[in-house]
Amino acid sequence: MSTTTVVAESNAFELVSGLEIHVQLNTQSKIFSSDSATFGALPNEHISAVSLGLPGALPKLNKEVVEKAIRIGLALNCHINQSNFFDRKNYFYADLPKGYQITQDNSPICKNGYLEIQLSDGTEKRIGINRIHLEEDAGKSLHDQDDKYSFVDLNRAGVPLIEIVTEPDVRSAEEAAALLTEIRQLVRFLNVSDGNMEEGSLRCDANISIRKQGDTAFGTRCEVKNLNSIRNVRRAIDFEFSRQVEVTGAGGTIIQSTLNFDADKGTTSPMRSKEEANDYRYFPDPDLQPISISDDWLAKIKSAMPILPKQIAGQLMTELGISKAEAMVLAEDKDLYSYYQQALPEVKQKKSLVNWLLGNIRAILNERQLEIAKYMVRPVQLAQLINLVDEKKISQQNALQQLLPALEGHQIQDVEELAKQLNLLIVEDTNAILILIDEVLAKYQPQVEAYKKGKKGVLGLFVGEVMKLAKGKADAKQVNELILEKLK
Ligand code: ADP
Ligand code: MG
Repeated sequence: MSTTTVVAESNAFELVSGLEIHVQLNTQSKIFSSDSATFGALPNEHISAVSLGLPGALPKLNKEVVEKAIRIGLALNCHINQSNFFDRKNYFYADLPKGYQITQDNSPICKNGYLEIQLSDGTEKRIGINRIHLEEDAGKSLHDQDDKYSFVDLNRAGVPLIEIVTEPDVRSAEEAAALLTEIRQLVRFLNVSDGNMEEGSLRCDANISIRKQGDTAFGTRCEVKNLNSIRNVRRAIDFEFSRQVEVTGAGGTIIQSTLNFDADKGTTSPMRSKEEANDYRYFPDPDLQPISISDDWLAKIKSAMPILPKQIAGQLMTELGISKAEAMVLAEDKDLYSYYQQALPEVKQKKSLVNWLLGNIRAILNERQLEIAKYMVRPVQLAQLINLVDEKKISQQNALQQLLPALEGHQIQDVEELAKQLNLLIVEDTNAILILIDEVLAKYQPQVEAYKKGKKGVLGLFVGEVMKLAKGKADAKQVNELILEKLK
């Protein structure tokens, strides 16, 4: 098949995709036991009778898991199911000693939400959230430790997960990437998960189908399992779309199936044919009481919700008249925004603070690969420095190149005092500047003559030389005016 025909056929089809996103919650202990839920221990260090699934061991629900799921549900505009319960999903696997996974099937904790994603063309798109349910993670089988045997590590068994299931509203790989990016930011912002895809705290299954442009019925979908980076989600969707277009174009049919993604090759391959839900024999878990979320509790969780980045960005845009892009940079970085807020009471011009943070400070941090939380200049110090610049007590250049680095080692409260000690304050004494101007004009006699004959361009030279002699401690605008006066 030539490339041109593939392109023509691709244009005739539309992608339809819905994501199932597993988020590992960052609680101290597991969902049904007091075993540690932290990552990185030696195999089977974090286990007890419950994690091992020993007969008669009883699960007990970790309340914080419920609270974190509700926080995410609220942020995703979901309806919170105040009475919900756990089901058993039955299957046999070596890393699942109980023979079932505790999850939620018919009664998810959150339902019917949505999320607005930002696309690169500047538009927003709403993606529906079908449900969010609670579940426990399974253990891990290790096949690469020994020639003959496989091993099982049950540290991960019982680690709390939520699964966010979107509606099939995604229409491109870009939308899927934007959706995941947004969710990752959100779980981090709400402190419900570290959102780390490499360590598996965020995993995504992508359901993918195609249909003819203009059709309203959905096509048969394939589900690509366990995508562990946003880039791979994009690649898997792009590959699968082309594959399905090709199969359909050649007169074939898409068979509903579960696929693996090979990150080296960038291709998908069949894993197993899809189980039917009734293979799992879901039924309510008799060991656990239904979850009942009181009005009081829900109200408490609601009132403790932080303002979300989008709302913050909206406020910043109206308050400071900055662009949406600028506002989002500030609002989406929790540490940067917290720094901004701490500097705010001290700074006289809010807009200058934003300019410094998004300009100079960000450049410094980028260059040093440093996070703002570890930056040694304290917010209040930066605010004072910015005030000195705005009040023309110090030049922008000296502030950036001398004062800012000097502040890094200092706990000093009075930044102006430090600027004075370092001899950086602008000389307010006009006479002192006039002396420097005389010196420069005397040194550059031929240029002064040229100026008088109409070569106005040399003015910049005079200003520059005076600023040099003043070691930057003069207001360039004032120097400019004084020289003009002199040369009249
Ligand atoms: P299951 O529980 O069997 O996995 P769901 O109906 O809950 O099935 O859907 C799982 C995911 O598949 C959801 O994210 C949904 O948006 C998506 N999905 C459903 N139908 C399609 C389709 N025809 N094409 C692409 N994605 C789909
Ligand atoms: Mg599914």
